[in-house]
This record gives sequence, structure tokens and C-alpha cells, in this order.
Amino acid sequence: MTSRGHRRSNRAVVVGSGPNGLAAALTLAAEGLEVEVLEAADTVGGGTRSSELTLPGLLHDECSGFHPLAVDTPLARRFDLGAHGLTWRWPEVQYSHPLDGGRGAAARRSVSETADGLGVDGRGWEQVFGPLTDRFDDIAEDFLRPMLHVPRHPVPLMRFGALSVLPTAVLARRWQGEEARALFAGVAAHALRPFGSPVSAAIGIALGTAAHRHGWPVAEGGSGAIAAAMTSLLGSLGGTVRTGVEVTSLAELGAADVVLLDVAPAAAARIVGDAMPRRISRALTRYRHGPGVFKVELAVDEGVPWTHRESRLAGTVHLGGTLEEIAAAEREVHLGRMPERPFVLVGQQFLADPARAVGDVVPVYAYAHVPAGWTGDATAAIEAQIERFAPGFRDRVLARHVRSAVQMEQHNPNYVGGDVVTGANDPWQLVFRPRLALDPYRLGVPGVYLCSAATPPGAGAHGMCGWNAARSALRDLG
Ligand SMILES: Cc1cc2nc3c(=O)[nH]c(=O)nc-3n(C[C@H](O)[C@H](O)[C@H](O)COP(=O)(O)OP(=O)(O)OC[C@H]3O[C@@H](n4cnc5c(N)ncnc54)[C@H](O)[C@@H]3O)c2cc1C
Repeated sequence: MTSRGHRRSNRAVVVGSGPNGLAAALTLAAEGLEVEVLEAADTVGGGTRSSELTLPGLLHDECSGFHPLAVDTPLARRFDLGAHGLTWRWPEVQYSHPLDGGRGAAARRSVSETADGLGVDGRGWEQVFGPLTDRFDDIAEDFLRPMLHVPRHPVPLMRFGALSVLPTAVLARRWQGEEARALFAGVAAHALRPFGSPVSAAIGIALGTAAHRHGWPVAEGGSGAIAAAMTSLLGSLGGTVRTGVEVTSLAELGAADVVLLDVAPAAAARIVGDAMPRRISRALTRYRHGPGVFKVELAVDEGVPWTHRESRLAGTVHLGGTLEEIAAAEREVHLGRMPERPFVLVGQQFLADPARAVGDVVPVYAYAHVPAGWTGDATAAIEAQIERFAPGFRDRVLARHVRSAVQMEQHNPNYVGGDVVTGANDPWQLVFRPRLALDPYRLGVPGVYLCSAATPPGAGAHGMCGWNAARSALRDLG
């Protein structure tokens, strides 16, 4: 990678070393800026950190586990992270959904192989995901940017948009069997929105299509390998990262031509302070956060004994039963009440990356959707959902590590109230985040930008918010 060098005299500071902060830093450093990243935590990576949370040698992803939207982006094409140690690995089944009685459904890379397992609904699955998968690259080119732009590929984008605007419950009416409906419910639940709400299908459509186009890969050696590769590449471009530095005000940053904030919107308003125009700080402090998650890491002897056989091959297993059960649980969470049987996501990254296990003892990652800021303990509810579809599982648990919704925020201040997607995915914020603006990255102060997942295209360890924000900054620098 050669830098152009013509901006070497410009200094940039990036606050926060999540994938978006690091992506912004890389994008600026590659253009010749002198870049420093300041990170409050003792380790880099934000949502892309991994560590031995249960037993020695067992590697757990602390946050992000699966990366369908990171594999092929303008950022991934521009920077060769593979040369800095990042290798993607895929499980055989991308995601699965067990139902009672050993039944269930599984999403594979191939749309038609997935459809083959869905009986009468196979054709309906192909009708939704086949054309979108064929045009996913074009669609992604448009949805990985801020919404207010002239689409480059209007026809596939319109098809994607027509399905995305639907409530999940309405879109799922095209499938009759419990299996296909539940398979979609599991992926749609990633939006953390009630299934009756407009546009609640959007994230399910995007992640479901990405599963067929790119799979849901894990990073070899843990998601921390993403941050490590980005940091290594940044170093080769002359950029530096300092950890253990919490930034509370712009005044702490010294002279800088460009400042990018990989923080939550209200934190950005606090850091910029009175220099920020009032209408912008008001919009940022009114930005809405969604429900939280409660996370449990488990050391499991010989893995989870799923009765649904394909779930034994799946990187991600969605739990909660039928679409109707999950809809009810998500509705409760949205209303601020903890459901008895919450939606649970189980990660079996070791299936794609066996070196994360030690002998027969494997690291299993599980989290439940819980109300925002919920202070209770969901460990028993999560384990009961797993036991329901994998009798005997509890007896295999050798160790556990728990992080509540409140502790999620202590671990990373961007996860306000445990909101791990840095903002509610309501219809307005899905389109205009963090506020209605032609350039949503600008913060109303020359040279200062927001680059976290609270900006387009939103949550995920893809780094595209940082890439877009840095390009906005470079345009303004001329
Ligand atoms: C449990 C969980 C599971 C997830 N699963 C997935 C998944 O499977 N796939 C996926 O793509 N995404 C997933 N995500 C979401 C993904 O991790 C985030 O969307 C992504 O990390 C956001 O990146 P970011 O750079 O915007 O912010 P973050 O990754 O949150 O990083 C922000 C960084 O800024 C630092 N910071 C904040 N304030 C300050 C300050 N004032 N001074 C200095 N430093 C500061 C924080 O310490 C943090 O390191 C998951 C998240 C969680 C928590």
C-alpha cells in the first residue's frame, strides 16, 4: 500500500478503535494524513475483540462473531487485510433454526440447497432470495452508503426496498410452514424491532441475502484478528493507536485538521460541547437507542447436543421457537418487559475455526434480547432456551462468563443501555441516522465528524461507517 503523501502535513485524530474508527484511520492514513487513534479501553477493537473468557485456551468473541457484510466492501477491496493476518472461515451451515421435536430449518450458502430443505416453502424462499442474491453486489453498493443519494442500481434496489419496507410478520405470510417462517424470523430478529413494525423486515432481508451471497464467516483466531489486521496495516501506513485514553473533550486532542468520533451520538455532542450548533446537538441527544442484550459465554464439553441435526453444523443458531413465539418475545422486550422465553442467538464459531476449542471442550457464545438497561440476570432463561432444543446441554457446561446489558455499556460506552447495534432500527433511523442531513457524518464544526455505527450504513463490524465518514472528511479537506 503506498500513500499519496500530499496531505502528510495534515493531522487526524480518531477517537475510538472499533472497526469504524480503524476503517476511518486507514482511509485517512492511506491518503497521507498523519493519523492517531485514541482508545479508552486497554485493548483495541471495540466490538471486534476476542479473549479467553471461560477456560484457558478457549477463545470467545466478546461482541461481533459473524461478518457477512465485511467480506466484500469498498473498504475490503481497498485494503488487503489478508496480508495482515485476516482469514475468513465459513461453517457448513450459515445459520439454523431448531423447532420443538427435532424439527428445524437451515440456511446454506446456496439458495437452492436452502430451499430444498424447506418443503412447500422452498419455491417461496427462492423467489425472495434468488433474485436478490444474484444482484446483491449492486444492492450493497447502494445500501452501504447514506440513503440520500442517486441510486447506482435502481432496479435491484427497488426490489430490495419493496420487501424491506414490510413488517416481518407481513413478509413471512408468503411462507406456510413453521420452518421457513421461523428461519426468516430468526434472521429478522437481528433488527431488534417488533415484527409488526414497518421496515422491520429490512435487516432480515439484508442479512439473509448476504448469507447466500457471502455466507456468515468468522475471523480465524477470533474477531480480534480483524482489529489486529487493521491495526497492523495502519502501522504500516504510519498511523498509531494509543489505548487507555478516554477522550471527554475536543480540547484534549491538540491541533488537528480532522477529528473522527467513533462514539455514540450523545457522547459526540458532549465531546464537541458548545462548539456544536444547537440544532445538531439536540438531534444527537434525542437519538434513540434500542433494546439491550445479555451475553453468556460457555465452555461446553463435546458441544451442544442439538436434536435438529443441521444445527450441529451451523455457525449461528437462532432460538425462540416459532415466528409467533419470537414475535411475542420481541414485543415484550420492546415494551420494556423481560420475556420468560427470550430470543436467543447462539454462536458456534469453533465449527468454522476449530483452533478456538481445546480438545473436546468448545467455546459457545449466546446472547438474549432484553429490555434497554435491564439489570436482571438472563443466564437461566438463555440456558433454558438452549436446553429446550438440546436436552442434556446443561450437564455439559464446564464454565460460564456473563455480561449483563448494563455491563455491556461498561465494557463499551457505545452500547448505551446494552444496545449493541448503536441505535434503534426504527424506520426513521434506519434511513436517516444519526439525523436528517445530506452529509450525516458532519457534526457542524469544520473538520469534526461522527463515524460510529450510529451513522450509515449502521451496525456491523464492516467498517463502512468509518470509510464513508473519512471520505467525507477528505472531500472537505479538498
Ligand atoms: C454481543 C454483540 C454481538 C454482535 N454481533 C455482531 C455480528 O455477529 N456481526 C456484526 O457485524 N456485528 C455484530 N455486532 C455489532 C458490531 O460489533 C458493532 O456494530 C461494531 O463493532 C460497531 O463498530 P464501531 O466502530 O462503530 O464501534 P465499536 O466497535 O463499539 O467501538 C467503539 C470504540 O470506541 C471506544 N470509545 C468510545 N468512547 C470513547 C471515548 N470517549 N474515548 C476513547 N475511546 C472511546 C470504545 O471503547 C470502543 O472501543 C455485535 C455486537 C455485540 C456487542
